[in-house]
Amino acid sequence: MKITALVAHDANAPLVSAPITLRSLQDQDVNIEVLYCGVCHSDLHMARNEWAVSRYPLVPGHEIVGRVVEVGAGVTRFHRNQIVGVGVMVDSCRECHFCQMQEEQYCEQGFTATYNGIDRYTGQSTTGGYAQNIIVDQNFVVSVPDSLPLAGVAPLLCAGVTVWSPLRHFNVKAGDRVGVVGLGGLGHMAVKLASALGAEVTLFTTSPQKGADAYRLGAKQVVISTQSEQMAASQASLDIIIDCVAAAHDLTPYLAALKTNGHLVLVGIPETSHPSPQITPMVFRRLSISGSSIGSIKETQEMLDFCGQHSITSDIELLQGEEIETAFERMLKGDVKYRFVIDMQATQW
Ligand code: NAP
Ligand code: ZN
Ligand code: ZN
Repeated sequence: MKITALVAHDANAPLVSAPITLRSLQDQDVNIEVLYCGVCHSDLHMARNEWAVSRYPLVPGHEIVGRVVEVGAGVTRFHRNQIVGVGVMVDSCRECHFCQMQEEQYCEQGFTATYNGIDRYTGQSTTGGYAQNIIVDQNFVVSVPDSLPLAGVAPLLCAGVTVWSPLRHFNVKAGDRVGVVGLGGLGHMAVKLASALGAEVTLFTTSPQKGADAYRLGAKQVVISTQSEQMAASQASLDIIIDCVAAAHDLTPYLAALKTNGHLVLVGIPETSHPSPQITPMVFRRLSISGSSIGSIKETQEMLDFCGQHSITSDIELLQGEEIETAFERMLKGDVKYRFVIDMQATQW
């Protein structure tokens, strides 16, 4: 199937509108007309080859909400005209321990990424949601609650589930004290979701002007992380911290903010690694640092249903495809409130 997409041709060139070919519809496939696609910081890392794994031409986009326009003969879970979502994965081996446990994001063979992955049918590069359509196996498609405004749902498919998964894995519950570092796409969803789970949220930010928004989104405390007195006042106060920062930084002050037995969960993937934190406080207060990769299809559906029940969506700025480079530049300055979403129907291809 021939469609038009926003394509990065190399790490230094802006994205441009260009024709691409999608795989032909397989029995289990759903053909989705993309309505909205969120702009994740990973799209910027990938378009500009900051992780040194990009293959060009590359079509970013893994926060996809769209309408089913065609289904394969074996599709049972979705029907034409249904509104659905696709996140960061479009396939996995389906056989390994983690796939069997419905934790495909930790597939031992590596999940197939929505873009810049290798399609298990065709051997070609997968292409993402900055496009008119995407064709995805029904097992990697989720249904979207019809009560929610769709543009604000798109960012839930990556930003939402990426912070939901560790909140659930570490069993965050009412009354827990949760820290969130960085008020960007992931961070603002972490504030909303942790507060909706009943936790008391402290936001750490480098941007004092974001404080009022953080309280509006549900935070109970805001700490300006560049102010050492404010950091000192937050010592030993939190059960868990979700670190959503897209750049390398010192982790030691965040370990200090944890209570004994606390967890620092890293979800940001900066271009260069964080410097090693001090080990002694980790040992004497049994602190752990973990990473966390997106979330499973099951968790994605669970999170969407939770958002439907609690009327939670992302705070977004809607743009047209032609404005993507401006969006990337503003994102680099931390100047997004709090997720750009491309309106595919309004885009002039
Ligand atoms: P984003 O919207 O750009 O937000 C990042 C936030 O980090 C900024 O708003 C800023 O918040 C803070 N920050 C502090 N210093 C920074 C600096 N020097 N450069 C950039 N940001 C800085 O990014 P995002 O889309 O939320 O993604 C965050 C990170 O998570 C990215 O590295 C992305 O690739 C990664 N990610 C990981 C997964 C996963 O599966 N683990 C999934 C999706 C994304 P303040 O202004 O409040 O300080
Ligand atoms: Zn993402
Ligand atoms: Zn697997």
